Amino acid sequence: MKNLPMHRFLGLCAAFLMLCAAPLVHAEQQPGLAAAVDVRHVSRDLWRVDYRFAQAVTAVKLHSIGAFRKQEWTVLTPGMGMTSGPDFDVIASKGKPFKAASVQIRTFDGWSPKDYVSFNRFSDGGTSVYLGHLQGDVEQGDKTLAMRTDFKLAGLGQENVIAPPANRLHPGGPRGYAYFGPAQAVLAGAVKVVIDPKAPQWLRETILDVGAKTSGYYEKAYQRQLKDELLIMVAVGNVESPGFSMKGGAILGAGQVSYLLEGKQVQLDHPKLREHATKTVAHEMAHIWQLAIARGGVGDDQGPWIHEGGAEAMALDALAQTGLYSEEAVKAYRAKQAATCEKLGGAVDTFDGIYACGLMRFDKLGVGIVPLWRAMMEATEATGAAYSQQMIDTIVSAK
Ligand SMILES: [Zn+2]
Repeated sequence: MKNLPMHRFLGLCAAFLMLCAAPLVHAEQQPGLAAAVDVRHVSRDLWRVDYRFAQAVTAVKLHSIGAFRKQEWTVLTPGMGMTSGPDFDVIASKGKPFKAASVQIRTFDGWSPKDYVSFNRFSDGGTSVYLGHLQGDVEQGDKTLAMRTDFKLAGLGQENVIAPPANRLHPGGPRGYAYFGPAQAVLAGAVKVVIDPKAPQWLRETILDVGAKTSGYYEKAYQRQLKDELLIMVAVGNVESPGFSMKGGAILGAGQVSYLLEGKQVQLDHPKLREHATKTVAHEMAHIWQLAIARGGVGDDQGPWIHEGGAEAMALDALAQTGLYSEEAVKAYRAKQAATCEKLGGAVDTFDGIYACGLMRFDKLGVGIVPLWRAMMEATEATGAAYSQQMIDTIVSAK
């Protein structure tokens, strides 16, 4: 994922890169309010979302996702409206309490670098919808409560609907992508996969093979089994655009990895693209293992360099140990990231810095990445506290 200090991060990258995402996790103790959310696909690019709350609320407060809601959301409930500030989109009824709200949403093709892509279009006409963008908080007067969401999904007539796994770490919390379209999920080992028919063979192979090999390695190295049912979605879009881009998002705590491939070169089976895709998959699977815990994990307020730089370091170790990368390829990637970090003066406050300097920080600790993350997983589970610099310092000083 990606990036920012803010609430949701995700990753993305430029012409040749990837990213991933982290979740926005509400503090574990935050009280919640039950919300039934019905998502209905009403025509090709139109969606209807009905919210029903267990108690009356005075506002629905959702973290801003670029222009998405401002541009594509229409509040249908009479007397209600949405206002968009720099941080939040707020749906309210002039201060009057309400228990239900309905919105109409058009498919949004933009995305904001700090977040997950709201919609992925598949070449077979299918669409996946990031349910996390429909979730957030509600207000009751001056009290803020997290929605504890229960989704119901309905597709168009013939559509197959594939729901993302439940959020195991935060029941009722952020969910991943739901797929609406003609495809069926297929089983690859224990993992469910929805792959765009346009995905070329080299990419299917890479995603499944690297996914299986790195999972096997992480399971042994970190001495943990996957806790989530895992659903992998691969969408291929925008094949007219130049170049190659691969965005990956691990939906933390929610058992899902979503990849979006774009660009003319997707069809090219080139060693450089394979190498890039291989690293992306190893990185996303590392996130899945960072969350193979019973509680704790990735928090809102801790620097994203911890889980992103950590995933980079875990991925390089896995690629080297499984032979997926040669020693030279690992060295070359490290050297490239070291150069990027040096240009940024070592800071982890930019998108590139989170990855590149995050990796450098782990490299400099003098503790192997495997024993370090194994200890971090034990620590987060023991206390429920999120992964943090302080946790790392404590582990390093005890070694
Ligand atoms: Zn990531």
